[in-house]
Amino acid sequence: MINFKEAQKIIFNNIELSSLEERDILQCNDKVLGENIYSKDNLPPFNKSAMDGYAIKSEYTESVSNENITEFKIKNTIKAGEYCTEILEHGEVYKIMTGAPVPNYADSVIEIEKVIVENNKIYINEKVKKDKNIIKLGEELRIGDLALKKGSVIRPSEIGLLASLGYKKVKVHKSPVVALIITGDELVDIDSKLSNGKIRNCNEYTLISLIEKIGAKVVSFGIVCDDKNILREKINLSLKESDIVITSGGVSVGDYDFIEEILGDIGADIKFNKVAIKPGKPVTFATYKKKLFFGLPGNPLSVINTFEEFVKPAIKKIMGKNNFSNEEFNVVLADNFKSKVGRRDFVYVDLKKENEVYYAHKIGSQSSNQLVTISKANGIVIIPEDVEDVYVGEIFNGRFIFK
Ligand code: AMP
Ligand code: MG
Repeated sequence: MINFKEAQKIIFNNIELSSLEERDILQCNDKVLGENIYSKDNLPPFNKSAMDGYAIKSEYTESVSNENITEFKIKNTIKAGEYCTEILEHGEVYKIMTGAPVPNYADSVIEIEKVIVENNKIYINEKVKKDKNIIKLGEELRIGDLALKKGSVIRPSEIGLLASLGYKKVKVHKSPVVALIITGDELVDIDSKLSNGKIRNCNEYTLISLIEKIGAKVVSFGIVCDDKNILREKINLSLKESDIVITSGGVSVGDYDFIEEILGDIGADIKFNKVAIKPGKPVTFATYKKKLFFGLPGNPLSVINTFEEFVKPAIKKIMGKNNFSNEEFNVVLADNFKSKVGRRDFVYVDLKKENEVYYAHKIGSQSSNQLVTISKANGIVIIPEDVEDVYVGEIFNGRFIFK
């Protein structure tokens, strides 16, 4: 049995960054950019009015003051989307709308609220400064500037920026295809009535939502019975059709836990089959011709924990994300919790903030078959390997879950 850090290191050492694909920008949310994006235009492409107001030449207002209120004739109105090439003479202004190009002969915009308007004239009582309320051509970006760096995570703001620069498609790191195999003779699907000895298959649904939440693709092979030959056939098929295979159940020491044996049969390289953690000890990781194989335990809480701790960071790394684990922070225990020396305990809790401090509250049994527990939890507290039972007031690292 290896410890948590060793297990994570082994997984990371076997990860390769995914190749690139071109995607429509609207399909790039949360993907990692695989190319530098240079600006094809100036942004903004012209001197733009930041206000609804009056475009004026500042020089013509030099003698204006409270004692010398001066009138200017409104020559014309410039709407957003129009372009004006007329010459602005002394004593003239243009009415201008937000987003409209400031004409060449003007160098400032006075806000509508600062003038008095009468009979197509405005009256002003103070000098205006040059460049006031003008967003200058190329102020954000000049042609050829680096707009977005390779490796950036694309968010709605980056999608907007790409759109304003005229990029319809960009290159991003591909999302891996993840195959799911759900083992267990006891499982029936969610629309079935429960009969003797049967339970509903929940792990398939949990895993599909966990995988899709981080932007990877799922191919589910559904429930496969605990028959070695049938399971081997499905595992072979799933390895052909995906980049990563996840199985649920069948990795423990029971008579019908065949996953490890099958991995041996097909020549997969088993890197580990047990990690000193709770929940999720009997987790298996193997590689097969550059494909990754995660054999997760069958208990619903173990599935979630091992996915969150091992599979999720791996998928994020494959997709080019450097920030692959959620931020940990100090958490003060509001209750006592059980823990054992020699393993890392992930205790599912309700994290509540009081006076800027996060407190971890007990929410019920941490037994790994309990999904009811996790439905009340919003976070975990991580109790390291060298610590036994922990008590109210002690401080450990914690984290929100499903982030
Ligand atoms: P296993 O790892 O196959 O020994 O399964 C451990 C426990 O998890 C057993 O109680 C199983 O019945 C349960 N289990 C396994 N797979 C599922 C599943 N897909 N949905 C719900 N419970 C499951
Ligand atoms: Mg089983």
